Amino acid sequence: MPEEPCQCPDCQRFYREHDRLIRENPTLRQQQELSWAALQSFRTLAGRVLDDLQKTHGDAEPAPAAAATAGAGPAEAGDLDAIQQAIADLENINAHLFSIEALMERIFDVRVPEEVEQKFRELAGELAPDPLNADRLRLNRLLHQTPDLPDRS
Ligand SMILES: [Zn+2]
Repeated sequence: MPEEPCQCPDCQRFYREHDRLIRENPTLRQQQELSWAALQSFRTLAGRVLDDLQKTHGDAEPAPAAAATAGAGPAEAGDLDAIQQAIADLENINAHLFSIEALMERIFDVRVPEEVEQKFRELAGELAPDPLNADRLRLNRLLHQTPDLPDRS
């Protein structure tokens, strides 16, 4: 017997988002564009925040112990450490995103014939049917109460 997928709120939100992305981007081309846009928006925003933090707080070098203990109280020193840690984490994230971009460029160049795109559309419809589709709604109600769905009549 297959294990029941987790139904906690986080997982449910993930399933909905996952299905929506399939439903709204049912071709290889659209999935490529979607992934590319997501990656680029992530890079743009995280990079901008990192720049801003570095301007304000300097690079991610461990705050000198003296500075941390001298002027600042324990709470302030803790905040400062957290910011330095965040800067280091964001630098790592940006480096990884850069690597992912290099890999993604290689899958982004692929084009497939229209009949294969049609296969994508067909299977997308099976994997992620319209959530407001009547059958889907009924099934969903059977499985659990559905506070997220608009129709509660
Ligand atoms: Zn879960």
